[in-house]
Amino acid sequence: MPQTTTSARPSARVITFSLSLLASAVLLAGCASKPSQFAYTVPAQPEGSSGYTEKPGWATEKFAVAAANPLATDAGYQILKAGGSAIDAAIAVQMVLTLVEPQSSGIGGGAFLLHSTGKTVEAYDGRETAPAAADEKLFLGADGKPVPFYDGVVGGRSVGVPGTVRMLEMAHKQHGKLPWATLFQPAITLAEGGFKVSARLNTLVKADQHLKKDPVAAAYFYKADGDARDVGVNLRNPELAAVLRKIAAEGSKALHEGEIAQAIVDKVQKHPTNPGKLSLADLAGYQPKKREALCHDYQVQAKDFRVCGFPPPSSGAIAVGQILGILKNTDAAAKPLQDGLQGQAPSADWLHLYTEAARLAFADRAQYVADPDFVQPPAGSWSSLLAPAYLAERAKLIGAQSMKIAQPGNPGAVKTGYAPMPDQPEYGTSHISIVDAFGNALAMTTTIEDQFGARQMVKGFLLNNELTDFSFAPTDAQGQPIANRVQPGKRPRSSMAPTLVFDKATGELLMSGGSPGGAAIIHYTAKTLYGVLNWGLTPQQAINLPNFGSMNGPTLLEEKRFPPATVEALRARGAEVREMNMTSGLQAITRGNAHGKKLWMGGADPRREGVVMGD
Ligand code: GLU
Repeated sequence: MPQTTTSARPSARVITFSLSLLASAVLLAGCASKPSQFAYTVPAQPEGSSGYTEKPGWATEKFAVAAANPLATDAGYQILKAGGSAIDAAIAVQMVLTLVEPQSSGIGGGAFLLHSTGKTVEAYDGRETAPAAADEKLFLGADGKPVPFYDGVVGGRSVGVPGTVRMLEMAHKQHGKLPWATLFQPAITLAEGGFKVSARLNTLVKADQHLKKDPVAAAYFYKADGDARDVGVNLRNPELAAVLRKIAAEGSKALHEGEIAQAIVDKVQKHPTNPGKLSLADLAGYQPKKREALCHDYQVQAKDFRVCGFPPPSSGAIAVGQILGILKNTDAAAKPLQDGLQGQAPSADWLHLYTEAARLAFADRAQYVADPDFVQPPAGSWSSLLAPAYLAERAKLIGAQSMKIAQPGNPGAVKTGYAPMPDQPEYGTSHISIVDAFGNALAMTTTIEDQFGARQMVKGFLLNNELTDFSFAPTDAQGQPIANRVQPGKRPRSSMAPTLVFDKATGELLMSGGSPGGAAIIHYTAKTLYGVLNWGLTPQQAINLPNFGSMNGPTLLEEKRFPPATVEALRARGAEVREMNMTSGLQAITRGNAHGKKLWMGGADPRREGVVMGD
């Protein structure tokens, strides 16, 4: 019999959670007793909503977890409460996300995890890789031209070797406190007993054009009449439960070798219209990597911060760092927030400076950033793109009128041999921020790339379409190679920007944050950092700010959030302005003072279903 999903949670936790909903909440004494053995309790499952739902902001004392779905957050919370580390909690959160937010991330995808022990910052790279048999023609049609984007996405062709589980296993070996298998309990229990379909999942299933084409996904996500499963209905996933049980017992080998690996390969290679090249050897050979985090100094008035992000193959930290660094060379700091249509919003003057800085950053991103195991950084180091002198030069290109399209810069003496990559769409993804009671903190952004990935379901989980983050075109019109072209074994360039901010003087962790949103991840993350560090906002206030950006084209503004005068003022400066839906999914935790105490302040994006929990 499936277990009921509405069983009551222990009363202590109910109190803790409801208190933690108040920004001034402080944990009650006596709630944190450590159970000798972890026993997962299925929480009550409120029906989430899509659209814009105000979030209260949270505050906790000892530890906190912020994730994109209440069940996932709760799993992380229970692990932290049972004495787990931040890494332990992240594993529990990720496994539950695979089940309850399958559109965004999961064991069939990849992730970047930035982890701090309080002394060192480590960057765990679980990015997918291209199969050994893939080459730069992977996304070219018979005519030698790039295929339309979704012709690349849907099917087996776009599926990269998943990296999330193996990366988490590596991080757990180094920083886990609870046994690996314990961390799978929440997801296994929920997969067996069922979880309530959230409004967001229902909305996305309903709207998706491609998911139904896979008969396995169709049977799971849709009713017999072809409609999406209703909001609040109990959805069980026993196949995923069995997979998770096997990974819990045997480790990542259970996913990368044997019958599950074979099922993945069959699904990819035997796709009826768009097969891919992923092989058993690719799966078995996947290696997560530990990289050096990319950190730079950032000063706001007299305060010195150290901002750490994920290095290539992500472009996130470089672009966020460039935007912040270029803005420092302008008078952006003198331009405060003003009234928007719904709360505060940046002024047109500030937005002009920001979007110009963004154009410059995106020009460099397109020119330079790709898998560091395959391409050389300009001037011999990725940090050259963040060098203060280089950014000061770049800032000089910002004038009163928009440059509309920026050209890449040249931080070193040697000119790059690469051509810029054209812009390509990206959607999906989930962000997790956690601080534990032991002084560890993490920011992990995790993805299957597009929503529902490649739309290929195997044994209860979805396969990624991460290979479409490569440039479809291997060269420009002149035949000059593009750095981020497909090559065997290579990791596609990402925009994911998990970020940790420290007090430079003391080393104290001040912030963990990140977002989904494709290339706009860079803007959502930069906005939140600027809001907290420069404008002194709580993480919730910073996340609530309207979204904006430019990918080195039009100026993008979140629709219905900016006064018409702001839009007009930007147009008067020559920018093409597009108002559009900009659905970030930010989660952030900051260190703050309230009521004479040091607290963890948490924020979750009102545009999605995330919550923060902690004690
Ligand atoms: N696949 C994208 C990346 O790694 C993220 C997709 C998204 O957030 O929508 O940058």
